[in-house]
Amino acid sequence: MKLILLGAPGAGKGTQAERLCKTLDIPTISTGNILRAAIKNGTPTGLKAKSFMDAGQLVPDEVIIGIITERLAEKDCEKGYILDGVPRTIAQAEAMEKAGIVFDAVVSIEIADEVIMERMGGRRVCESCGASYHVTAVPSKQEGVCDSCGGKLVQRKDDAPETVKARLEVYHKETEPLKAFYAQRGLLKTVENQPTVEENTQAILRALGK
Ligand code: AMP
Repeated sequence: MKLILLGAPGAGKGTQAERLCKTLDIPTISTGNILRAAIKNGTPTGLKAKSFMDAGQLVPDEVIIGIITERLAEKDCEKGYILDGVPRTIAQAEAMEKAGIVFDAVVSIEIADEVIMERMGGRRVCESCGASYHVTAVPSKQEGVCDSCGGKLVQRKDDAPETVKARLEVYHKETEPLKAFYAQRGLLKTVENQPTVEENTQAILRALGK
């Protein structure tokens, strides 16, 4: 199963990808997590990406295309994968298509901007492994500590309200056109945001016929 999760920032792609990868037994590839790790490690890619990410803007396509083609060539991706946060532009989608990367399904999580603005203040991420939590909707067992790896939970710098607004604008302008792109290829499935994380997972699995 080669799957893309589409949706606005804060739609729950990361949370759902982490749950689905266990059910489907395939890895999740998150370009956001790869870039945050690169920034933390001070790599050249991280240095290039940081200012864009802090401003809520997209990292240039050529950087992302390099990261993703390299990552998808790794052995653990042979059986399939879930892409979280990539592609985010038509150019990225076309570059993947050109590289012979094909998908079985593209699931778009549909959620109103107002709900996202409310939700983002409570998001926490593990600074070590990138796992996502929410102070009320998806709390960790111990406050501030990652359930998976014991790492510290922090608020992302780009979750500040002004930056979230910029990211939503970028989403509508650059990423949302991907829905039509994949609908034309017969791959798009849309899932309305549900009241709970579990119900969202079930809705996505249903859309995938699982
Ligand atoms: P995310 O964790 O997916 O919300 O990504 C955080 C930030 O990383 C985004 O706001 C972008 O600055 C950058 N980023 C992640 N994935 C991509 C991508 N596919 N294309 C461009 N920028 C990206």
